[in-house]
Amino acid sequence: MQPFTRSPGRVPGRIGYLRYTHFVLSGIFVFLLWYFVGPWIGEDNTLVALLWVLGGNILYYALAIGMAYKYRDNRAFCKILCPITALLKTTSRFSLIKVKADYEKCTDCGACEKACPMDIKIRDYIKDGKRVTSTECILCQTCVNSCPQKVLSLAIGLDIGGNELLRSRTV
Ligand code: SF4
Ligand code: SF4
Repeated sequence: MQPFTRSPGRVPGRIGYLRYTHFVLSGIFVFLLWYFVGPWIGEDNTLVALLWVLGGNILYYALAIGMAYKYRDNRAFCKILCPITALLKTTSRFSLIKVKADYEKCTDCGACEKACPMDIKIRDYIKDGKRVTSTECILCQTCVNSCPQKVLSLAIGLDIGGNELLRSRTV
């Protein structure tokens, strides 16, 4: 467990695009390993496979913890470097389940946005009368549980996401 309970917001600039570069480079790296190193190792070498898995996981954890401290954000790795998001964000656009609000009962207190670990400007979606269609939403329901008016909930519907309304950090 890391100590940064509240996200300071997105790092300004294009640093978030590193995720896509990482995704492409990871694919190339795996292909090269499979094509050139695979035949050399052979098909039946469980120990080598285990070492690769352990090494990869240790590297990922080290990066994630280091980035959390550098950016003062527990989810810095997810927001900047995680290659899996390239796939997840694509499918998230078409997700049937998204967060929605009862606009009439929202008091605009901002508690949901303060609690959101992914820096989503939830109130902006509410004011537009939309569900939270950001592909950054991880459906953690922290906002749902943080709303004092209990106006947020998960709802099934048909809409295509992709418009990203995200809170940037000020420093
Ligand atoms: S479900 Fe989680 S990620 Fe999605 S808007 Fe709510 S707090 Fe943010
Ligand atoms: S926490 Fe609830 S009442 Fe407050 S702004 Fe968010 S949705 Fe509205």
